[in-house]
Amino acid sequence: MPEATDVTDHGGGVWSIPVPIPDNPLGHTLVHLLDTDRGPVLVDTGWDDPTAWDTLTAGLTACGTGVAEIHGVLVTHHHPDHHGLSGQVREASGAWIAMHGADAHVVRRTREAEPTQWLDYLAEKLAAAGAPEDHLAPLRAARAEGRSSLPGQRAALPDREIAPGELLDLPGRRLRAVWTPGHTPGHVCLHLEETHPAALRGHGRLFSGDHLLPEISPHIGLYEDPSDATRTDPLGDYLDSLTHVAALDPAEVLPAHQYAFTDAPARVRALLDHHETRLANLRALLTTPLTPWQLAERMEWNRPWPDIPYGSRNIAVSEAEAHLRRLVNLGRAEPVPGTEPVAYRAR
Ligand SMILES: [Zn+2]
Ligand SMILES: [Zn+2]
Repeated sequence: MPEATDVTDHGGGVWSIPVPIPDNPLGHTLVHLLDTDRGPVLVDTGWDDPTAWDTLTAGLTACGTGVAEIHGVLVTHHHPDHHGLSGQVREASGAWIAMHGADAHVVRRTREAEPTQWLDYLAEKLAAAGAPEDHLAPLRAARAEGRSSLPGQRAALPDREIAPGELLDLPGRRLRAVWTPGHTPGHVCLHLEETHPAALRGHGRLFSGDHLLPEISPHIGLYEDPSDATRTDPLGDYLDSLTHVAALDPAEVLPAHQYAFTDAPARVRALLDHHETRLANLRALLTTPLTPWQLAERMEWNRPWPDIPYGSRNIAVSEAEAHLRRLVNLGRAEPVPGTEPVAYRAR
């Protein structure tokens, strides 16, 4: 059982509950509780796991409420460490679940996907990115054996769409959704447009989900969608979304991981600098033409490439592709004609 002191009272009817993520270096998701005149509302819910559930419900009790009292769930984005327990909260309370339409689309698609179709898509996509045969073999084997577990297939369908730019219907509060695509296509931040309880300088408080975190930079890959051939630019979206939230100049940021912090514009500047440096470094690697896989092998990760586990390599390649797409859109790289799989070079 968690200690009651694990819960943080941020003042002005806002609390956070650290809900553990099993076997994950991130440690926990900060689930936020917001009091409204119609009952408490959650911002995110945490990972779908019994320990996480027990921590969440005990945390709600420590905040002076209970899971049955929850009026609504606002989901910043569809990832399982944010949306995992939403269905169980809805069952226990009758609460509505709200999410941006683009992420609701991902949830719907994942629930309806045929696992074999998904494995085919993944294998095709990785082959096109230049993945070697020994990386593709396990996918082909899984397909041949009809192995069929797809993460996210049990994720709850939301009841409401979060319409960005509008004030949410929360009696007694001023909470506005801000669309911040990049980490996912439908990621939203939620701007509590009320005076900071400690009168800190700036404009209200921002529930930032995974978009703006104090010490880490969120994963930016391609928006995976087998049915959509449009060439999106998630890294471009993310950088635009960073500029957008800096302009809100919130007095305090309440992120979904790590800890609350101030001076959002400074954090945004640091992240924009980080990405500019990274893009320049990657472009420098492209003096030799490289496939996305080869680029991923040469990028800097938190450990050497041979030590990166199988699933994380897929994520790394997706991140390399997002950077290549950005460089191409900026006119700083180009595909080499006639290469298969396609290699990219600096221009
Ligand atoms: Zn996420
Ligand atoms: Zn997260």
